[in-house]
Amino acid sequence: MTYPNTEETLNLLRALVSIPSPSGNTNEVITYVENFLKELKVETKRNRKGGLIATLPGKDQQNHRMLTAHVDTLGAIVKEIKPSGRLKLDLIGGFNFNSIEGEYCEIETSSGKKFTGTILMHQTSVHVYKDAGKAERNQDNMEVRLDEKVNNANDVRALGIEVGDFISFDPRVQILSSGFIKSRHLDDKASVAILLQLIKQVKKEAIELPYTTHFLISNNEEIGYGGNSNIPPETVEYLAVDMGAMGDGQSTDEYTVSICVKDASGPYHYELRKRLTQLAIDNQIGYKLDIYPYYGSDASAAIRSGNDIIHGLIGPGIDSSHAFERTHKDSIGNTAKLLYHYVQSEMIL
Ligand SMILES: [Zn+2]
Repeated sequence: MTYPNTEETLNLLRALVSIPSPSGNTNEVITYVENFLKELKVETKRNRKGGLIATLPGKDQQNHRMLTAHVDTLGAIVKEIKPSGRLKLDLIGGFNFNSIEGEYCEIETSSGKKFTGTILMHQTSVHVYKDAGKAERNQDNMEVRLDEKVNNANDVRALGIEVGDFISFDPRVQILSSGFIKSRHLDDKASVAILLQLIKQVKKEAIELPYTTHFLISNNEEIGYGGNSNIPPETVEYLAVDMGAMGDGQSTDEYTVSICVKDASGPYHYELRKRLTQLAIDNQIGYKLDIYPYYGSDASAAIRSGNDIIHGLIGPGIDSSHAFERTHKDSIGNTAKLLYHYVQSEMIL
């Protein structure tokens, strides 16, 4: 078995993080995924909110499985055009202004024109402002400096930029020979890349899956409701593949697959968690069990919206999540391996 082909997964990951897709503006990246699946001759359909569902028919067509990963990311939107010609931002998703200070960004107008800029604190220049270091970074003093000759709001509007235009952050992706991957939006495009490679592998090996298996590429997870709908009624197990959270007291690392036992929504399904752990043990896959304190997933969102499903959450470990993210190819490989065995395993019925 030549699986997982991590190099191919990383190339796909690079392509995915390079397509801007803040929650609310995901059509381009969903189209990319759709074309990838079309080439594999996998049946897909879009839901009304813009997500994509791919289905691989299995032996048992009465009991289904669903796996999901989200392709939407953190981002921002133009809140206000300041008299100075700078843009005020409103954030999309949960993160702090500190984590985007100094970041290059792209503004997409409603007609599709694209402009670049830099996200800065208003009082950045130390030669002019005394409090440059200490000032709190917040919506009032953080702004976008456009790379255009603009001196006032009218100049900006003349470019076609308006309130409501989407702002995406430069991912600055680097895939290093040490095996580390540094990039924004590894949450959760690393998992999307893993799921797409898994589908490709199932097709390549012509594996007959034990159960009909759906793959939902969700597009509203960062705002809480990407995977809480369009779950076929036959679905028994629903597994979210999303990042494992790292930090003080966390067992998740950048090398293993993180199996979540509990997050802010409560414990995940006990039997499914034990099954996933056993699969990791049986197949010599490096794993960690962990609790994510300030975290919710598309699987918990699905439960909350009233779906009677067995829910689980696993994923690669991501350092400094929702900020300067990094993982290692080992974590991607271990997550891929666990999923490969999971989709071929017996269900908890
Ligand atoms: Zn995520």
